[in-house]
Formats: sequence, C-alpha cells, structure tokens
Amino acid sequence: MSTPFDVIVVGVGAMGSAACYHLARRGKRVLGLERFGVPHVMGSSHGVNRIIRLAYYEDPSYIPLLRRAFELWRSLESYFGEQLLFVTGSIDASHRDSRVFSESLRSCQLHSLAHEVLTAVELSERYPGFHLPDHFMAVLQPEGGFVMSERAIVAHAAGALAAGAEIHGFEPVLSWTTTSTGVRVETDRGSYEADQLIVSAGGWMGKVVPALESVTKPERQVLGWFQPVQATLFTKEVMPVFNLEAENGRYYGLPIHGIPGFKFGRYHHLDEQIDPDAWNRDPTARDEEALRIGLRNYLPAADGPVLSMASCIFTNTPDEHFIIDRLEPGSPVIVASPCSGHGYKFAAVIGEVLADLAIDDRTDHDISRFRLDRFTR
Ligand SMILES: Cc1cc2nc3c(=O)[nH]c(=O)nc-3n(C[C@H](O)[C@H](O)[C@H](O)COP(=O)(O)OP(=O)(O)OC[C@H]3O[C@@H](n4cnc5c(N)ncnc54)[C@H](O)[C@@H]3O)c2cc1C
Repeated sequence: MSTPFDVIVVGVGAMGSAACYHLARRGKRVLGLERFGVPHVMGSSHGVNRIIRLAYYEDPSYIPLLRRAFELWRSLESYFGEQLLFVTGSIDASHRDSRVFSESLRSCQLHSLAHEVLTAVELSERYPGFHLPDHFMAVLQPEGGFVMSERAIVAHAAGALAAGAEIHGFEPVLSWTTTSTGVRVETDRGSYEADQLIVSAGGWMGKVVPALESVTKPERQVLGWFQPVQATLFTKEVMPVFNLEAENGRYYGLPIHGIPGFKFGRYHHLDEQIDPDAWNRDPTARDEEALRIGLRNYLPAADGPVLSMASCIFTNTPDEHFIIDRLEPGSPVIVASPCSGHGYKFAAVIGEVLADLAIDDRTDHDISRFRLDRFTR
C-alpha cells in the first residue's frame, strides 16, 4: 500500500525549505513540518544574510558544491523574481602561515579560481575599512558575496508550495518511527506516514535524532550591526564580505545591507554550548564587548554605536564538517546537519542533494566528506 507522502521533511529552515523545493519540483508528494513559523528567528538562519564564497579555507573539496550552489541561487532568484545573491568579492585574511589565508589561497590555486593576494597595506589601500597587522596577508576572490538568508527560505518555501508541497508551521515533530513501508511521524496535531524522512532540524538535531546528540552540539552565537564612524567605507559597493583570523579570534563581516549597520561576528562567539530549548537569547554587554574587541583592533572605522544584535545557533560537529547521510545503510531516514557555522551558502545545493538521496538513493555530487560513519566507525 502506498503511503500518503513520498517524503516528510522535519524542519523547514534553510536546508528543509530547499529540500521541499527540490522534491516538490520533481513531482514528489512532500510534507514539511516546522516547529516555528516559516521563516522565523529562533534557529540558525535569521539575521538578514549570510556570506557565500568560492575560496574555501575549510577544505577545497567543498568548491564543486559551491559552484553548483551559485548556479542554484541564481536560478532560485530568477524563479522568485527578487535578488537573493549579492556579489561583493570575498576577503580571507590572517597571518600568512595561518589557515584562513594559506588554505584559502591553496583552494584558489587547486581549483583555478580568480584571485589576488594582497598585503595588509595593499588591503587597506583598496578597502580603507581594514586596519590589519602589517604581517597579515589577504586573498581576494571576486565572486564572493552574500545570500539573503531569510528571503531565500521564503523563496524555497513559496516555490515548494507552488509545486504542490504541503508545509505546516507551528507543528513540532514529537517523535518518529520506522514502519514496514517507511516512516510514521507524530505531532500534537496528527500522525503522518511517508516512504522517506529527511531530518533537517538544525540546532534540535540531537533532540529529533538522539543517536546524533553527541555529534551535533548546539552553540550560542551573537552577532551585531554597528554604526560605522565612516559609513562610506562599509557599503556593499566598496566593502567585500570577509573572514579574518586574528589573535583575538576568527571574525567575519558583511557590508551594510538590509538593515542599518555593518554586520560583524566572531566564530564560536563565547564558546557556550546550549540546550536549544533553554538558553539566553538576549544579547548582553559582554556579547557586545566580545565583538568590539575585533572592531577596535582590525576595523576601527566601524567601531561606532551598536544598532542591533541577534542571537543564533551554530550546530557543531566534532570536525566542523557537515553530516549528510542516511542514518543507517538502508534506513528510510536521511539526516542533514550542514552547519558548524558555515552551512547556509550551500542550502540551495544541499536541497538538491537531499532530493537526490530521497528519490534515487544516490547523488552525483561528491558528499563523501559528510558521511556519518566517520564518527561512528
Ligand atoms: C550567527 C551565524 C552566522 C552564520 N554565518 C554564516 C555565513 O556567513 N555563511 C554561511 O554559509 N553560514 C553561516 N552560518 C551557518 C548557517 O546559518 C547554518 O549552516 C544554516 O542556517 C543551517 O540551516 P539549517 O536548515 O540546518 O537550520 P535552521 O535554518 O535553523 O532550520 C532548522 C529548522 O528545524 C526546525 N525544527 C527543529 N526541531 C523541530 C521539530 N521537532 N519539529 C519541526 N521542526 C523542527 C527549526 O525550528 C528550524 O526552523 C551562520 C550561522 C549563525 C548562527
């Protein structure tokens, strides 16, 4: 007997909305279940936008996926009729022997990406907002920029609905079980069956799939929007997105766009692991000071009054690479935890990968780096 849905997607955030979009557009009967609204500000994808870059110091093996992500973001925005991807160029800067500069450069060389290498002085001449130590070096990759993260969830969800998907907001999944024909999912409103289950629950992954609790650790992040002393240095026409690895931490920034202020954050902000259902979402003076240290030292012209702050969740794996796999070989359950602070830019292609796995049990994309058994072996 056939089940009412081909696929149920748990969590309609960045990855889940993209999965619903690709599945529905390939004619599959999809149900997306989301515990909050679509979109919302309680998970990992809010705060206007996210950096996208081709140069990839985390591992050059991500670059083929990134090329496809760029194509799919462009295709989504032409379908949606709204610009979602803005190109500013991307900077990866650090001491010449540190990972952000040296691995970014290696990734450009390995994949023949257009790039320039700049000294700290050359960087400040080109982009006067930066004030880095003299021995720092930077890779400039011209195709980097940012994706409008909240709007892109809206675009994916709207596209999924238009293609026939069903999406329910404010309907948390309470439990799921495998059956002889696939899966059954329980919520406080009903019980649903499908052939396959995709779990893309972000910071709640370990709650929805307890087997993953030890390898998907939610962490509190706080980012800020600051009023630059010289605002003209921080518009998207003259300021690229950047990653900066320095003595006080690894920082990232995005030019003024969407809401007032220059956006600035620090990876693993205050190193606070959290329970995603019980944590302090209110930004504090200590949060602001952790960001200001970076501004003061490396971007002093941006060190003006704070305009806005937001708290958000990183979901970290032990090696900070994604998990995208079946829960077990032959299982109807596919799990997707592409965060560790760098997953958003891939959402469009991860939606495609998840649809491939659910429909064909395989994908042409190389996702071998994201196998779950690297932690369970
Ligand atoms: C501050 C910050 C800055 C970042 N900067 C960047 C960046 O510049 N570039 C980049 O590429 N990445 C960045 N990232 C990482 C990126 O945002 C994440 O990789 C991405 O948002 C993860 O998407 P997701 O779909 O896994 O999570 P989410 O978008 O949070 O979606 C998970 C969804 O599951 C839902 N859910 C959970 N449990 C249940 C349940 N039981 N039932 C139903 N629904 C449920 C949640 O409500 C949520 O909507 C950043 C992250 C943060 C926090």
